[in-house]
Amino acid sequence: MDYKPPKTVVDPESKLLYSNDPSSKYETKVLYENESTHPTGHRTNMLQMCFKGFRQNLILVLLLLSVVFGCAIGFGIRASGNLTKREIMYLQFPGEMLMRMLKMLIIPLVVASLIGGIAGLDAKTCGKMGLRTMAYFGTTTMLAVILGIIMAVTIRPGANGDQSEIPRYGQAQNLNSVDTFLDLIRNMFPDNLIVACYTGYKTDLDETKTVENVTVPNENSTTDATNNTYELRETVTYEPSKGETGQSNILGLVVFSVCFGIVIGRMGEKGKPLLNFCNCVTECTMKLFVVFIWYSPIGITFLIAGKIVGMETFEVLMTRVGLYFLTVLFGLAIHGAVILPLLYFIITRRNPYTFLRGILEAMATAFGTSSSSATMPVTLRCLEMKNGIDQRVSSFVVPVGATINMDGTALYEAVAALFIGQVNDMDMSFGQIITISITATAASIGAAGVPQAGLVTMVIVLAAVGLPIDDVTLILVVDWFLDRFRTMTNVVGDSIGAGIVYHLSKNELSGDNEDKTENLNLVRVDIPNGKDAITAV
Ligand code: ASP
Repeated sequence: MDYKPPKTVVDPESKLLYSNDPSSKYETKVLYENESTHPTGHRTNMLQMCFKGFRQNLILVLLLLSVVFGCAIGFGIRASGNLTKREIMYLQFPGEMLMRMLKMLIIPLVVASLIGGIAGLDAKTCGKMGLRTMAYFGTTTMLAVILGIIMAVTIRPGANGDQSEIPRYGQAQNLNSVDTFLDLIRNMFPDNLIVACYTGYKTDLDETKTVENVTVPNENSTTDATNNTYELRETVTYEPSKGETGQSNILGLVVFSVCFGIVIGRMGEKGKPLLNFCNCVTECTMKLFVVFIWYSPIGITFLIAGKIVGMETFEVLMTRVGLYFLTVLFGLAIHGAVILPLLYFIITRRNPYTFLRGILEAMATAFGTSSSSATMPVTLRCLEMKNGIDQRVSSFVVPVGATINMDGTALYEAVAALFIGQVNDMDMSFGQIITISITATAASIGAAGVPQAGLVTMVIVLAAVGLPIDDVTLILVVDWFLDRFRTMTNVVGDSIGAGIVYHLSKNELSGDNEDKTENLNLVRVDIPNGKDAITAV
């Protein structure tokens, strides 16, 4: 049987692109070192390659099926009767295990791959990459907020009706926008790296109630002060105090790793052992991840089923909250499937939908876990293995993005604030709309990449335009479901960001001037000389 080598091979170790395709724009290079001597080896490796390609697609199909199964199991159990809280907890247990497995990998993966990646770059390239990333994050978040405002103003989901019709669930938490912003800066510089691995800093607001005896002047009396009356008045003040987020401080770890990586890179030979150590940790974590990924369809099925069973009610979807839900959903779809891909196309001139196909696994995981942080290992793997993004770019853009770049959350915050304004019959002035756009951006930056974090930071937006913060309870009932879609949009935003930054930075990434992402479906194969490679199929 004749062996036909694959057309294009990317070797991530040497960062070279080998091609024997006459129509390719790449120069023909030696495909395999031992090609003439190991023909059977090639057959075996072609089979291995096919098998690995099949496995890649199988996991994707299983992930998508798990979303369907999760809904089916959830609705099935719901229809057959109510479960107790304990039973729901047991049902969610396999999903909880998946979240734990994914979270377990975040710290070694982010720290090691970032240090290893940055050490290979000079400070100038690093700075340029950072600037491009921030410019992309800022632009896309603003675009998301503007789209959210346009949608809410044209559809008016909260108009025409009585506020009392909408049921309320839960309680709002108090937050202050300046404190949230300062916390973000504080978290960039953790005072203790070990603590940063499990929690970040958060300013808590302690409620203090004081009762005062206030003198109320008697308006009817013109001269006699003794005509004053006295009244007991309660004043509530919120005093800031030190608190904890209870989530790893990824931003702090990213800042530390970038600084550490730059210094290791400058140390030359002396820094090599540490660099090798970091590269080894990254590889090892990725290998572990490949084992865990096979468990993810089971975890996602039970995460979704548990959530559906535990949900309060579905009927509200038919009310005004239903229209709000559809408005956000529609906005997220436009942003994730039209605006971001268009931006990608304009900048890179590549097919954005091929790129999106490469991150389908990450999207399904984001939908299942509702957490862009927990999805991070999957996102990194999809970007590097399927979309051919340089690890030095993805390991920087994705963790920073999962912490501060949340397009889906920003869009949702804008729509939700306007919805609550409409429900309260409040017509927003132009100034208030500007305030909403700025605070929604800030609130999305301040939200952590964990389930329903956007709902917590929502109060910043409401407080800024004078809306009652307790009104977030109006949208709470659909929030768990919307959260899944906005997390997916957040992950798409980060991934497209990595694609764009890679495209813009690739000439500066030393030793890697070749373009590796020519809309190829890339899978990892073993080539006979023992190196791992990615091949186009
Ligand atoms: N769950 C979202 C995320 O992890 C954040 C949010 O909007 O609540 O990206």
